[in-house]
Amino acid sequence: MTSAKRVLLAEPRGYCAGVDRAVETVEKALEKHGAPVYVRKEIVHNRHVVETLQEKGVIFVDETDEVPEGALLVFSAHGVSPAVHAGAAERHLRTIDATCPLVTKVHQEAKRFARDDYDILLIGHEGHEEVEGTAGEAPEHVQLVDGPEAVESVTVRDEDKVIWLSQTTLSVDETMETVRRLREKFPKLQDPPSDDICYATQNRQVAVKAMAPQCDVVIVVGSNNSSNSKRLVEVALQAGAGASYLIDFAREIDPAWLTGAGTVGVTSGASVPEVLVRGVVEYLARAGFTDVETVTTANETLVFALPRELRPRAKA
Ligand code: SF4
Repeated sequence: MTSAKRVLLAEPRGYCAGVDRAVETVEKALEKHGAPVYVRKEIVHNRHVVETLQEKGVIFVDETDEVPEGALLVFSAHGVSPAVHAGAAERHLRTIDATCPLVTKVHQEAKRFARDDYDILLIGHEGHEEVEGTAGEAPEHVQLVDGPEAVESVTVRDEDKVIWLSQTTLSVDETMETVRRLREKFPKLQDPPSDDICYATQNRQVAVKAMAPQCDVVIVVGSNNSSNSKRLVEVALQAGAGASYLIDFAREIDPAWLTGAGTVGVTSGASVPEVLVRGVVEYLARAGFTDVETVTTANETLVFALPRELRPRAKA
């Protein structure tokens, strides 16, 4: 007999290959060069990760001009514009770039289509670091489109030369709706050469969609500034979860959320270490949700190599 109170655990969840690489980049930089290591912006959008690295001697800054001349600076997983690279070079900073290779891919697309003089419609969230970095590759060609409602005000120079690109961590469904509206307006709109919304974002949304219809509550572990984590809450609600909440830590769970609940779904954003999910599962067990089942929709095996500066030297 199954317990009346159960937990469904979405799989995949948590760390993606780009986050894993970025966090390891900072840890290896600390090991190799010692503290302090400076990091521009949060290395990944997760409070626990940032606080843990701070304790080890990492100093997070907003801009390169806050870093002492000649110091070591790591660029975050979200990517930076050429202007930021130039600012770091001016201060003679030693830099290591932890930009996720899948973000770099979108930068390359932006550069390529700007070279061919396209109008680039970049679907993404205004003010997000990734969007600032990508747009900064070709500011004169890129226009930000922040969701379906923003389509109305988009104008282009030549309707025959328009392409859309996107932030890597958006809701797949909402992005497709934005593209549909853009295409209604610009029928010759071209698609990106390959998916810009990354595999990890897509996989985590697919897993939540599979799990949510069975859930009274879906708890998403992730920080408030994590785009892909916030999207998981939206996807859970759209897919039929009774309620969904974003939390950084188990201690933020309000016991009232669980009142009368039979099934609680749990997932986590791509920047979230598994230890935080374990904390939530343990909390739920103490509340009587002891039956834990995993809902698996994909197996992820992708791994990215560390930035060149930190790879072990090949033997001669
Ligand atoms: S969420 Fe996607 S784009 Fe962002 S770091 Fe992870 S793999 Fe890279």
